[in-house]
Amino acid sequence: MARLGSWIESHPEGIYVRPADAWIDPSQPKAKALVTHGHSDHARGGHGAVLATAETLAIMEVRCGPQNGQPLAYDEPIRVGDVDVRFVPAGHVLGSAQIVLEHGGERVVVSGDYKRRPDPTCACFVPVPCDIFITEATFGLPVFRHPDTGSEIDRLLHRLHSDPSRCVLVGAYALGKAQRIITELRARGHHEPIYFHGAIERLNQLYESFGVELGELRPATGAPKAEMAGHIVIAPPGALNDRWSRRLPDPVTAMASGWMRIRQRARQRNVELPLIISDHADWDELTTTVRELEPREVWITHGREEALKHWCLTHQIKACELNLVGYEDEDE
Ligand SMILES: [Zn+2]
Ligand SMILES: [Zn+2]
Repeated sequence: MARLGSWIESHPEGIYVRPADAWIDPSQPKAKALVTHGHSDHARGGHGAVLATAETLAIMEVRCGPQNGQPLAYDEPIRVGDVDVRFVPAGHVLGSAQIVLEHGGERVVVSGDYKRRPDPTCACFVPVPCDIFITEATFGLPVFRHPDTGSEIDRLLHRLHSDPSRCVLVGAYALGKAQRIITELRARGHHEPIYFHGAIERLNQLYESFGVELGELRPATGAPKAEMAGHIVIAPPGALNDRWSRRLPDPVTAMASGWMRIRQRARQRNVELPLIISDHADWDELTTTVRELEPREVWITHGREEALKHWCLTHQIKACELNLVGYEDEDE
């Protein structure tokens, strides 16, 4: 009998689905790519044809230019070569999908990036039982347990209100995290204008065009310094310690990332207010998901594979690591 999943090949530049002659999230240009979501480590330009959700295609067009794309709705079945394919929500960012592949009586689910907790900007992760679950493990260590998102947002608001002469500058990844922080703030009753760095403007507009309401947003560039006092400003992490931030009124520097669990990381970026808010599954979400899906095998990609592999083996689930290169979630 052939090895389980022998029709799926792992290469440094991505996962190749042989009977579909297609690649998943390839880091090099390929004739046919299935793309899980719009983050740049998964969605690269230059493919001959791209199969993705409409949201992901729209994000790719903003970031990489025009695509020869075929949009797929969640749960819409499609046959690619000799493989039945469908996309189901991954709960990671707008339009993010897990890719469900069926061939020769075997079902393989490629998670892309995912999380299990609710996110007002995207559809919730849908668990699909499978033979092989290919999972990310960005936060695949027991030390990574993300706290409740609402309590982190409350800490942010508390800090903001404690000194109305200052602004709070929140570093947040431009695709997904920034819009999630804004909607979480709105959900906690914060309806003041929120200022933004120019680098997130187009993605804010794209989210709104797909029906995600962000409330009143104002560009920070050009706004008088005094006007921003007592307000929240959102910028990509790279802008936190940049000249750009000098235009802001005595900013309290915050950053929203799963990495903020590690104090050293917060210190390196001069972050005064670390907010542990992640778009990736934490350790409990990873292990809960594997338990729930009951796969026969778990293949682990980008991240700290070793601990999750060990956990799987102690739970009588075969596990291995895939050495894909170029997947990075440093700023997430
Ligand atoms: Zn991602
Ligand atoms: Zn990723």
